[in-house]
Amino acid sequence: MRLILLGPPGAGKGTQAEKIVADHRIVQLSTGDMLRAAVAAGTAVGQRAKAVMDRGELVSDEIVIDIIRDRLSKPDTSKGFILDGFPRTVAQAEALDKLLGTLKIPLDAIIELRVDDEVLLDRIKTRIKENPGSVRADDNPETLKKRLEVYHKQTAPVAAYYEKTKRLSKVDGMVSKDQVAAAIARTLKAKAKPERVR
Ligand code: ADP
Repeated sequence: MRLILLGPPGAGKGTQAEKIVADHRIVQLSTGDMLRAAVAAGTAVGQRAKAVMDRGELVSDEIVIDIIRDRLSKPDTSKGFILDGFPRTVAQAEALDKLLGTLKIPLDAIIELRVDDEVLLDRIKTRIKENPGSVRADDNPETLKKRLEVYHKQTAPVAAYYEKTKRLSKVDGMVSKDQVAAAIARTLKAKAKPERVR
């Protein structure tokens, strides 16, 4: 199973990805997590990315495409993967299509979790109130507004990019976690092609 999870910050991509990973024994490739790891490790990429991330803006396409190309070459991705937080721009989506084409790896599903902005703002505020200890540097109402703005400007066109070629499945992200998970499971079941008999 190879899929992309699209959706705004706070849409629940991480929560749903965790469940899909467990159910399908595949790996989660979160560019956000990989960039935070690079920042924590103080690598050259991390040093370049930190300020940009703290402002709620996007790291350069070149950096994240390199990270993903590198990651997809590791053997643990051979059974399948979820891309979470990537692609975030149309240029990244085009680069991904090219890369997967070269590697001859087809995607099974591209799922967009849809959540309205007011709901997202409420969710992040609740998250900050309930877990003040685990708040990220970019998890505050001001930066979230910036991240939402960036999402609408740069990432919403990615959904349109996949919709144009009829590859996009939309899932309502404003129902309970279990209901979202069930809707994703239905989508994946419908998309999964039966093994070809040789
Ligand atoms: P969230 O899911 O809350 O939106 P992420 O953890 O996916 O946040 O990403 C956090 C930050 O990392 C982003 O705001 C951005 O600065 C950077 N980032 C992550 N993925 C990408 C990407 N594909 N392209 C550019 N920047 C990215």
